[in-house]
Amino acid sequence: MKLMKSWVKSANSADTQFPLNNLPYGVFTTDKLEPRCGVAIGDMILDMSAAEEAGLIELAEDPVFDVPYWNDVMELGPEAWVALRARLQQLLAEGSAEQASVAPLLFPMSAARMELPMVVAEYTDFYAGKHHATNVGTMFRGAQNALPPNWLHIPIGYNGRASSVVVSGTDIIRPNGQTKAPTADTPSFGPCKRLDIELEMGTIVGSASELGHPVTVAQADEMIFGYVLLNDWSARDIQAWEYQPLGPFQAKAFATSISPWIVTRAALEPFRTSTPEREKELLPYLLEPKPMLYDIALSVTMQAEGGEVKTICETNYNEMYYSAPQQLAHHASSGCAMTPGDLLGSGTISGPEKHQRGSLLELSWGGQEPIDIGNGQTRSFIEDGDTLTLHGAAIGDGYKIGFGTCTGTIKPAIKFP
Ligand code: MN
Repeated sequence: MKLMKSWVKSANSADTQFPLNNLPYGVFTTDKLEPRCGVAIGDMILDMSAAEEAGLIELAEDPVFDVPYWNDVMELGPEAWVALRARLQQLLAEGSAEQASVAPLLFPMSAARMELPMVVAEYTDFYAGKHHATNVGTMFRGAQNALPPNWLHIPIGYNGRASSVVVSGTDIIRPNGQTKAPTADTPSFGPCKRLDIELEMGTIVGSASELGHPVTVAQADEMIFGYVLLNDWSARDIQAWEYQPLGPFQAKAFATSISPWIVTRAALEPFRTSTPEREKELLPYLLEPKPMLYDIALSVTMQAEGGEVKTICETNYNEMYYSAPQQLAHHASSGCAMTPGDLLGSGTISGPEKHQRGSLLELSWGGQEPIDIGNGQTRSFIEDGDTLTLHGAAIGDGYKIGFGTCTGTIKPAIKFP
């Protein structure tokens, strides 16, 4: 696959995250416009509501783009998604007969504010990265018991909160919570002292599944609308005290950030790759009929207030042990119904090397080895005023499929009670 040329000049640069090959979906607003659906092309955003009103795009009888979410488009199903992408590429391709009609509907990205791209129906977070699970398990339970006995058979997950999913750029308030230091006799309540990130991909489910009915891994893949970057902010001290026996609760419930652009499955198609070799044979309902992971380069930068921007992690989505379709098939295997707008976190994406660890817990090895963030400063966990940013792109031949960024700055805890 090569760069597809557009008449939007900035979309043809080798540096752009949003060439014609990408066309990710977001929700934007400007000083004059109500929030509405938009598509990124180069450094511009196509106003989908205006394009629909002008009759340039007709996906359904009723308008679907004049609203601040893509859920209506998701509900039209995979055939409509394919038709929409084909029509957008036709309108925006070099030599398009409709260039003159489309050009006035483009807004500079620099003048737009991005909102959440969809109504998040429900949020589930997995724990499907083997390097991460091994690292964390080693710290919490020792190297002999790092991976629990179920790990190589099940994509482990927990049901999270949709109410605290926020778009990139939203400030994050340090959570309060109950903790107990290993040496303390009694627990205490107050601001989290071990605040962390988790570098993850978010999968957005576009098609529903029926209550009581499982789906195959192949069907699960077809149900996926697209992918975003996801930061599963984590309070490690709260987590360590509360997590047994039912898993994370308040430690993960206060905030989850996602990048504003949904990168479609179609845009990622040239970057499909297989999950790593299985260490234990999977049960048939989890077998993949074809490669279901993607080669997506990922990194994390950290910046103290007024400090330099320092890269603290570089890894790849292809390090995951379970793919998103496997996770989705497992999620529906009991008959749990999936809904358009459901968000699935992949689990922290760490690689085998030290610089590939996708959380500060791993990078600083539980606080024992603070990391250098420049200007003579070090960190084991996040301090107030720090900004953490996730970056991601699939790198093609002379072009890339970018995800934009997923960023958040930590604000001090609320004084409570
Ligand atoms: Mn997580």
